Amino acid sequence: MPTVDALAAGLGSGDNPLHTAPWPPDLGTRSRERRRPCAPANMGIRGPASYGDAALRTTAEAVVVGAGIMGCAIAHALAERGMTEVVVLERDAIGGGSTADGAGGVRQQFSTETNVRLATHSVRVWETFGERFGTEIGLRQQGYLFLLTDPAEEPVFRANLALQQGLGVPSRWVEPAEIRELNPHVAMDDVRGGTFCPEDGWCDPSAATMGYAQAARRLGVAIEEGTPVTGIQVDGGRVSGVRTPRGDVATPRVIVCAGPQSRAVGALAGVELPVDPSRRMSFVTEPFAALPPTLPMTIEFASGLYFHPESRGFLFGMANRDEPVGFDKTVDEGWMATTVEALVARVPAFGEANILRGWAGFYEVTPDDNPLLGHVDDPEGLFVAAGFSGHGFMQGPAVGACLAELVCDGAARTVDISPFRPSRFAEGAPAQEHNVI
Ligand SMILES: Cc1cc2nc3c(=O)[nH]c(=O)nc-3n(C[C@H](O)[C@H](O)[C@H](O)COP(=O)(O)OP(=O)(O)OC[C@H]3O[C@@H](n4cnc5c(N)ncnc54)[C@H](O)[C@@H]3O)c2cc1C
Repeated sequence: MPTVDALAAGLGSGDNPLHTAPWPPDLGTRSRERRRPCAPANMGIRGPASYGDAALRTTAEAVVVGAGIMGCAIAHALAERGMTEVVVLERDAIGGGSTADGAGGVRQQFSTETNVRLATHSVRVWETFGERFGTEIGLRQQGYLFLLTDPAEEPVFRANLALQQGLGVPSRWVEPAEIRELNPHVAMDDVRGGTFCPEDGWCDPSAATMGYAQAARRLGVAIEEGTPVTGIQVDGGRVSGVRTPRGDVATPRVIVCAGPQSRAVGALAGVELPVDPSRRMSFVTEPFAALPPTLPMTIEFASGLYFHPESRGFLFGMANRDEPVGFDKTVDEGWMATTVEALVARVPAFGEANILRGWAGFYEVTPDDNPLLGHVDDPEGLFVAAGFSGHGFMQGPAVGACLAELVCDGAARTVDISPFRPSRFAEGAPAQEHNVI
């Protein structure tokens, strides 16, 4: 097998699994297997073989479009609030969109108060998810360690720390000496310092999504896979229903949770939702012993390079800031080589690793790297929870609670999400997030 070094030098030979079989069914690593979207047979959830067997409900109190982490968490929260007719329409399979392709990172180190609050509320749910939902999500709170190499970043990160600490987050500044203790394998030559939060970590997005989906179904929510929404009906300025190939569903409320496809779904109601897909690639190494599985998620902030232990190997990736908008899901081998080079430069021990596999997914990006959360002004009854710009999975629990409060009570209580209202761009009031990986 080629080593990471060999891949960086020339992308190795044909025996690199990344070249021969990007999605092999027999992957060897347990955790990525668990993250494969929707395993209907062992989850007790009807799978593709029976799509369309049961009639689609013709009316609903609310229709949720998309069964990723957001659609499932929101549907569950609505049902918990007592809504008895909630229908989730998913064009493909539960958790098979961006949620399946993410790194599962969970952090509280953000630069905007709204994100810190959404993250803080969500972490408490992730910590107790197993007891509450009966689904193990494999939460590993080994911390997020940001490495800062640009002197201009220090005051920004110190200001962010003050915000986070003021909201109860145990994040802190770390000098180079402490960074060496937290991750002794990092090449420190240009590292000036960093930040660390021991409560941050990662877990399994597919397990979490299935946990929400199953809990929602137990509360009576209908989750219909293989059922794309192809139209949104509006009468007299109000949402009145949705159209699908299996029939129409009359409803006064539609909640768009369509991830990177949200722009297209909004257009069905004549609404412009500024959410665009941006390809991101992730890679997993084969098991190797040169680095301990206890390391934190480590991020070189300037480049967007990150890695964390995954199963008995490591997961890593790096943001390509020149990636064009689009739905191309192929793995860019040139970018893989660039990523590997940066990884080995930052942690030379990765030179001993083999890449097991890689895949591409989509960040669902908005102009200020924050989601559209709330109702649109027109038509009435259209809500949005989309455009999480690469940090959506971790916020699922808080977003679920907030959207249910907004829909049922007219305002969110758990977190004030008004800074992320969909109308903010038209109002000239963007809410830029600085800590985007
Ligand atoms: C490489 C990568 C790494 C990431 N790492 C992290 C991380 O570490 N931490 C983190 O918090 N987040 C991370 N993210 C981001 C995170 O995965 C997303 O923000 C989150 O999963 C978005 O969830 P969602 O439910 O909004 O969208 P999705 O999971 O995309 O769900 C939307 C669903 O809508 C469905 N849909 C679309 N159109 C229609 C239609 N017309 N009708 C019916 N259904 C429709 C889709 O099929 C899909 O299932 C990462 C993303 C990527 C790509």
